Amino acid sequence: MIDERDFPKGTLFSLILAAFFFLNGCSGEGHDDSTAIPETLALDIPALYSTVDTITVLVAYEPGAEPFTGTILRDIACWSVLESNIKALFEGRDLEPDVYVPSALSEMEEIPLKEQDTWTSKEVLDLALDVWDAHPSGYEAEFFVLFLKGYFKSEDAPDYRIIGVSIIGTPVIAIFKDIILSSSSIPQVARFVEQATLVHEFGHVMGLVNNGVPPVSDHLDPEHPRHCTNNRCVMYWVNEGASDMTEFVRLMIDSDSLVMFGEECLEDTRSYLP
Ligand SMILES: [Zn+2]
Ligand SMILES: [Zn+2]
Repeated sequence: MIDERDFPKGTLFSLILAAFFFLNGCSGEGHDDSTAIPETLALDIPALYSTVDTITVLVAYEPGAEPFTGTILRDIACWSVLESNIKALFEGRDLEPDVYVPSALSEMEEIPLKEQDTWTSKEVLDLALDVWDAHPSGYEAEFFVLFLKGYFKSEDAPDYRIIGVSIIGTPVIAIFKDIILSSSSIPQVARFVEQATLVHEFGHVMGLVNNGVPPVSDHLDPEHPRHCTNNRCVMYWVNEGASDMTEFVRLMIDSDSLVMFGEECLEDTRSYLP
């Protein structure tokens, strides 16, 4: 479905660079142990894969950090990428939850600008608590996505490589829009980076890799906890040459599917019986 012809000449290279940027710029480790998780934001992964029949994604954004909406390519809506990937994790299970993902800005919430240059995981959690009245339930799972200006702060310094974080043990994800916007001046590429980052961070909050859902095959990267050894999978952590990236992006472009998870990760969630 993603057709190379939709990209102007030379864009493919930018897309590869952007993907390189994204794959180096993720952090699933956006939680230090000193940050206590409030009870209303504790994520119940076993319930997610046993009793939950409705998954709702809630999105809020600061002015200037609006998520991309509309189409990513031709008639494919941006947010259908995330929706397809969440659904893919549950495909073939006895209970396939209904998945609600917003697609227009009017379905997302604009929050006042916080004017923060940096964000710690605690500040991200506090903002989520401020914006949403979370009601954890064994039947309806809510995921909270914040689009923020500024940068993630790790080890007392802003980290200019981190595009997105998932706060471990919670259904909270933050996307750092300034990094998305600087990843490419080509709108389609930046849109791809944004959705791929969302899919990656959702992978973490939904238990990948060995982050609540036990792996059924040997694909946990020993060097990078919670990441996948399959370089064609969105959960891969890339730290070497560009050839793997080329392969990943080529696969995305050639594929008939919007699903970015590799078979090993899909196998983990599809066969998980808590
Ligand atoms: Zn990650
Ligand atoms: Zn994988």
